Amino acid sequence: MKTNYPTHYCGIFGAVQVHDAARCVNNGLSFLQHRGEESCGITSTDGERFYEHKGMGLVSQVFNEETLALLSGTMAIGHNRYSTTGKSELRNTQPLRIDCRLGDIALAHNGNLTNTDRLRRELESGGAIFQTTTDSEVMLHLLARADAPLEQAIKEMMAKVEGAYSLLIMTRDKAFAIRDPYGFRPLSLGSMNGGWVVSSETCAFDIVGARYERDVRPGEIVVMELKGRDSALTAVPEEKALPRKLCSFEPIYFARPDSIIDGRSVYEARFDMGRKLAQEHPRKVDIVIPIPDGGTIAAMGYGSALGLQVHMAFTRNHYIGRSFICPTQVRRERIADHKINLIARLVKGKRVLVIDDSIVRGTTSGKRVAFLRSAGAAEIHMLVSCPPHRNPCHYGIDFPDPAKLAATGRSVDEIASRLGLDSLGYLSEQGLKDVLGPHGHCFACFNGDYPEKPPTAASS
Ligand code: SF4
Repeated sequence: MKTNYPTHYCGIFGAVQVHDAARCVNNGLSFLQHRGEESCGITSTDGERFYEHKGMGLVSQVFNEETLALLSGTMAIGHNRYSTTGKSELRNTQPLRIDCRLGDIALAHNGNLTNTDRLRRELESGGAIFQTTTDSEVMLHLLARADAPLEQAIKEMMAKVEGAYSLLIMTRDKAFAIRDPYGFRPLSLGSMNGGWVVSSETCAFDIVGARYERDVRPGEIVVMELKGRDSALTAVPEEKALPRKLCSFEPIYFARPDSIIDGRSVYEARFDMGRKLAQEHPRKVDIVIPIPDGGTIAAMGYGSALGLQVHMAFTRNHYIGRSFICPTQVRRERIADHKINLIARLVKGKRVLVIDDSIVRGTTSGKRVAFLRSAGAAEIHMLVSCPPHRNPCHYGIDFPDPAKLAATGRSVDEIASRLGLDSLGYLSEQGLKDVLGPHGHCFACFNGDYPEKPPTAASS
């Protein structure tokens, strides 16, 4: 993760009717670590009571044989967190849990609600006491207050909240996999040994030996029973379902390349973005070098389209912590500086084309360009496998203030000159739509066309 990149949000994983469900969830979460490194947690049930363990840090740091042995049962849900709302502290770790009129309920959330403040004010004025500063807790309060069985309470909650949410909700006898009506965040279903698993990304099915079945549809509530002969999958169509608006930044950058989201391989999408870049910006250069890991697959697509050699002249140090989990910009930049080294002899005297997956603030990109210059590159060109970021995200990606975005108020040539490049090019919005499909994705951080109204003083 690079210094000037937006932060990740969260990863969720659940297992139902699975032997040693908590261990299965632990393994699944380890494959979703890229979606949140700040804290993690697992809640399990044996049908009688809930067991939970949560902590700050990576899955491998929070869980061990001892803690997993305490998490009994054949149903469990888990969560990896990076805070986009609420502070980074233990009380905000998920799954969140309440004991209410409907019994024990645990909830794991990926996404960002856009009307949290208004809902929270309403709930607080009605006497609700919040234990966390997350938007996710609002959903638990709405469930607890509904005068209806849980399935109906979930529907009523979905009618009130706005924004992005892929959810796992667990009681002592059921689990629910839910995706918001736009499907901003991914959520997939898999099967294993007669049970069910649910994951933010399909890559986590591979490590637990599950078979990918399908994605949870936007607006859908999938109900999975803990026990009983008929404990199969029951899909409850959600009347409120809207045209799908999957975050386009998932295939561009966030999701792992070994995942399939809404039927599309992330690897193939990234490769095709590189091929599209080659159509839009053919460059006469001696060497193509990706910024690892984000630009690697697009660079391979670009090189294959134009018959150019791709070399890993920038090499990553995998033993440096991920920069985005650091609390300060200065610290993030310091970590980013130590993450990538350059094999200078590969670029000396060459016309170099750098391929990256995005430019957010631009300070790290500028440093990389300076690095190449001091190594003796003859020309330095850069291509980015998405359009310029000019707008904030309200659905769970923590982009900086628009005033700090490299593309805000600047032409592409102005950005190039600020970064010290000989030329700069971005994949066009149309090019991205050609790769991902014209409909079915959110492109708001590129074009400002928000599917769900952003928070305002009145509505937030
Ligand atoms: S605004 Fe950008 S980052 Fe946010 S959901 Fe839409 S495409 Fe994704």
